[in-house]
Amino acid sequence: MSADRINLLRTKVFDKSKWMQLPRDVVVGHDAIEQIPAVCEDLALGDSVLIVSGKQTRDVAGKRVEALLAGSYDVTTFTIDGGEPVETIRKAEAASAEAGFVIGVGGGRVIDTAKIAAYNVDRHFISVPTAASHDGIASSRASVPTADGNVSLAAEPPIAVVADTAVIASAPHRLLASGCADIIANCTATLDWELAHRLTGEPVSEYALTLARMTAEILFQNADLIKPHSEESAWIVTKALVSSGVAMSIAGSSRPGSGGEHKFSHALDRLAPGKGLHGEQCGIGAIITMYLHGGDWEAIRDSLRKIGAPTTPAEIGVDDETAVEALLAARKIRPERFTILDMGLTPESARNLVKMLYRE
Ligand SMILES: [Zn+2]
Repeated sequence: MSADRINLLRTKVFDKSKWMQLPRDVVVGHDAIEQIPAVCEDLALGDSVLIVSGKQTRDVAGKRVEALLAGSYDVTTFTIDGGEPVETIRKAEAASAEAGFVIGVGGGRVIDTAKIAAYNVDRHFISVPTAASHDGIASSRASVPTADGNVSLAAEPPIAVVADTAVIASAPHRLLASGCADIIANCTATLDWELAHRLTGEPVSEYALTLARMTAEILFQNADLIKPHSEESAWIVTKALVSSGVAMSIAGSSRPGSGGEHKFSHALDRLAPGKGLHGEQCGIGAIITMYLHGGDWEAIRDSLRKIGAPTTPAEIGVDDETAVEALLAARKIRPERFTILDMGLTPESARNLVKMLYRE
């Protein structure tokens, strides 16, 4: 028995616990869509399914998924028509409540809508991306456009990911390049996470850090292989996006893939809505945050160029002054997430960085 009458000594029990939600089935490759019936059967999720897709993505892949499942399941569909996002989510939610499980077949907007709807009515969600444009295809994170810019939420993580490389390779190359840039941003996001750990004591996960960093590394090494409309490129990028999503699942947050460069991108969503894609903006931001970390920012810029992703705000139609504003506004977005942009950036230094690092 302890002689500690004033309760000064800590009880030495191990009381740490963690809950990680990972996808159970991941099928990536040529004609992977044909495997959907087998995936649904394997997961035994019920006899009725709601298939969410977009106007175009329904033609690209949604109808094929509907036909593949029609014989064995009670199939209903929900097509996103470009209406007000929150209202659309509510409608998708009502439709999901009538089904045993939900499949999202489409790009970012479709996947995010299906993910949130499934989460709100407690249904499992299968992600069938038609483009590899960001790491939301395999993570629980969803982003919703609002009047104040995009809001990132934790929703239903996919129980399965079925990524058909033939479908993904046929999407516009800009989307794939943006997905690559989102992965490259892991380099700076992980540095920001370690910085926050050293400075504020924020806990880090070594596994999540290593996986996120390695994923970005693989993409750096294969930057030469990323070509428009090549199935091999779609394969490399999709696998990397899944692996990034897994790193986030291990961490229990988006921290391994989202640092200052993501806050810069969110700030741009507010200041210059509709200009750049999420991943494109993150890649551009990563050039500055890598420079501030003292790392090889030129390697980031060169890889982005090879892949065909933009490296300057001008390339996405954003002027330098707006980029400066976004760098300064970044710290007000999720202020609890400490990054290198919180370390004394002034309007003058931001202006100098934009001038110096975003030259053609
Ligand atoms: Zn991202």
